[in-house]
Amino acid sequence: MATREVFWNISPLGELIFYLIALVAIAIFAYGIYCHVRRILMGKRVAFTVRPLWAKLSTAIASIAANRTIARHDISAGVMHFLIMWGFVVLFIGTVIVTIEYDLFQKILGREHGFWVGSFFLGYEVILDTLGVLFLIGLVWALVRRYGLKLPQLTWKPLDLALPLWLLVIGATGFVVEGLRLAATASELSYDPRWSWAGFLISRWVGGLPVETLRTAHLVLWWVHGFLALGWIAYLPYAPKVMHILSAGVNLFFQELRPRGRLEVLDVEGAFERNEVLGFQTIKDLTRKDLLDLASCTECGRCEANCPAHLSGKILSPREIILELRDHVNEELPAFGKPKEHKQIIGYSIKPEEIWACTTCMACVEVCPVYIDPLNKILELRRNEVMIQDKYPAGFTDVFKGMDGRGNPWDMPTSERLAWMKGLDVPIASALAAANPGPDFEYLFFVGCAASFDPRAQKIARSVVKILQHAQIKFAVLGEEEGCTGDPARRIGHEYIFQILAKQNIEIFNNYNVKKILTICPHCFNTLKNEYPALGGHYEVVHHTQLIEQLLREGRLKLTKEIPATITYHDSCYLGRYNRIFDVPRNILKKLPGVKLIEMERHRERGMCCGAGGGLMWLEEEPGKRVNELRVKQAQEAFVGTNGRAKFVASACPFCMIMLEDGIKSKNAEFENKDIAELVAEALD
Ligand code: SF4
Ligand code: SF4
Repeated sequence: MATREVFWNISPLGELIFYLIALVAIAIFAYGIYCHVRRILMGKRVAFTVRPLWAKLSTAIASIAANRTIARHDISAGVMHFLIMWGFVVLFIGTVIVTIEYDLFQKILGREHGFWVGSFFLGYEVILDTLGVLFLIGLVWALVRRYGLKLPQLTWKPLDLALPLWLLVIGATGFVVEGLRLAATASELSYDPRWSWAGFLISRWVGGLPVETLRTAHLVLWWVHGFLALGWIAYLPYAPKVMHILSAGVNLFFQELRPRGRLEVLDVEGAFERNEVLGFQTIKDLTRKDLLDLASCTECGRCEANCPAHLSGKILSPREIILELRDHVNEELPAFGKPKEHKQIIGYSIKPEEIWACTTCMACVEVCPVYIDPLNKILELRRNEVMIQDKYPAGFTDVFKGMDGRGNPWDMPTSERLAWMKGLDVPIASALAAANPGPDFEYLFFVGCAASFDPRAQKIARSVVKILQHAQIKFAVLGEEEGCTGDPARRIGHEYIFQILAKQNIEIFNNYNVKKILTICPHCFNTLKNEYPALGGHYEVVHHTQLIEQLLREGRLKLTKEIPATITYHDSCYLGRYNRIFDVPRNILKKLPGVKLIEMERHRERGMCCGAGGGLMWLEEEPGKRVNELRVKQAQEAFVGTNGRAKFVASACPFCMIMLEDGIKSKNAEFENKDIAELVAEALD
């Protein structure tokens, strides 16, 4: 019957010593896990989502099994991780199978053999050898990526080399041990050794050696293999980089506790009355989910490689934010004993410049393979700096003053809100209501501050009006009654101003019995659609690209005029990554007569921010370190080889437009920027 002896060539004393070492390794492992769980439970409680347990579990398992979160942004890394992960998992399962066979069936139940015989055994051998070889290939691939290709997001710390080498030696010695055993027992084998094909190849290589030499080499390498494997198990919870083997799955399971990029409503006044802290001041303000995030970071650097602040030479790296917080937590929340005195995070482990360089683009959240949210931590740190410490870059003083006093971050007079519509016949809700109580309009066109006040962005609003009138859609604007949605205040960290503005807007919307809101600005869109419901404002919110696409589908817009141009589309973060609207703008551009659509290297989910989000529109960036210039450079690269036609970078956000126009000017680029609404309005007959 096909099978083999489990502890071949190991004496009973050796077997006993091995079991004792294994027990010690498991105890060290268990203690490490206990420390992690205890530390995570020190965080603030978070509400559990209502999603069924099985749905959460199946999503997490499917994501991990397919390496979905890694492969979707980097296929090479995805395949490498797939090989290592599945190799590791199958080798681990193989060890468990042998343990059950030997300890349960043979030792405890006293049988000569359990289930590890015959075709099951042969299948086991071929699967483990195959997955083991793929595991080694994955590890070599990982080393080549780090030390051969020198990918910039990867680090080169001693452990970055030691850990994969450790696994490589475990895997390689496992095969050599198998080969030595096959060679030494060739005449007594109960099965065809080619089922253990990797070990068989080695056995042919060493087959000419005397049996005693084979046995001695086997014994030595068996112990080396065993020590290294048990050492790995013991060390696993103490190496943050590899802890993700255990914690990533848990983090994936809890990924929905806080919707991505959407902030929770704070009870600001209540917190002041109760003398409570707002945002993250010290690490005791972190939630259990935040602490789990920190324990799950693989240090892969994907977030950093996609961070516009980092790419443009700023001090911020989302990976460093996570690692700095992790070090801070480990220092102040020891596994045993009382927590140490808590130091303020900003100024101790994180520099203020780091959090103020973030454009809130969510690229880091998008690419993180284990669903860590560095952005949320940055925003909570900002909240504390702004509302408790009263510390923020000087450029925000006027922004807060304008939003608080005149309802817009540019601090423009309210009367200027009507300037963009000069010469157009635009219905204003208050006038409609005065003429006829219960105004009759389908969409409230929420113009937004950028398109109201910025001369270039005003043209988007005018184009949208042309489109609405062409399609005979009943709409109205609020005019002087419109106020900022509060998004810039919220992203900068001033929740109080956000809530005041949001509540004012909701009251006005409700006065006019608003059901549908049309926005130009993805920031307004995101806030009205996703954040107002938590304050009682429930509306059907559409972005102008969504409405245009619908009108084209319904045949209510006819695009007849040719636009002979090559166009590349710049994804707005708040439309794309925040709200997954990637295809709609592209579908419209493809329908424009004469237009050839090309893509920049960074597009859709990996689209690069324009640099305006998170309030950074109002901060001066150092020349040479401007995000918008970097984005314009990427557009220039996309246009290489497309001479002879007009060139446009199309956008669907007034903030992006302002930043891109600025970047185009400073880089003296050979193309223009146009909003999709402008292009559609031009193409109408
Ligand atoms: S949100 Fe964007 S700018 Fe901020 S840390 Fe993440 S990737 Fe960087
Ligand atoms: S936060 Fe996520 S993407 Fe960034 S280094 Fe850690 S695991 Fe990688």
